[in-house]
Amino acid sequence: MEERPFSDISFEHFLNEEKLMGSKCQKCGALYAPPRPICIKCYGSEMAWVELKGKGKLAAFTSIAVGPPAMVAEGYDRKNPYISGVVELEEGVRVDARIAGIDGTKPEAIKIGTPLTVEFLHRGEGEDLKTILTFKPR
Ligand SMILES: [Zn+2]
Repeated sequence: MEERPFSDISFEHFLNEEKLMGSKCQKCGALYAPPRPICIKCYGSEMAWVELKGKGKLAAFTSIAVGPPAMVAEGYDRKNPYISGVVELEEGVRVDARIAGIDGTKPEAIKIGTPLTVEFLHRGEGEDLKTILTFKPR
């Protein structure tokens, strides 16, 4: 079984492997993604990894015109904003993610509740590999 700590770093390593993983409290069943080592509902510390299906719906979003340098380097700016959102997964947890496949210049066309599916956007390679958790309409 997985021996990785229930941390953001493990969450990111799993993203590099194209796995969306959360932690599930073995005492009360609460689910967390990114994972938590301690349950905030029952304070239980027995967690187990669960792989999430990566399907959900858009719960909230923001159109970002002035992003961090990494996003500017990818060509996002005032004329080409990107969408950052909160996705409610079928498993009932909410994750922050980038939303792709939606025109950032027309946020009024974006509907809360849009069905989404996960996409793993890889940047860099080897030691520098980073994966951006992204969702796109399905
Ligand atoms: Zn719990």
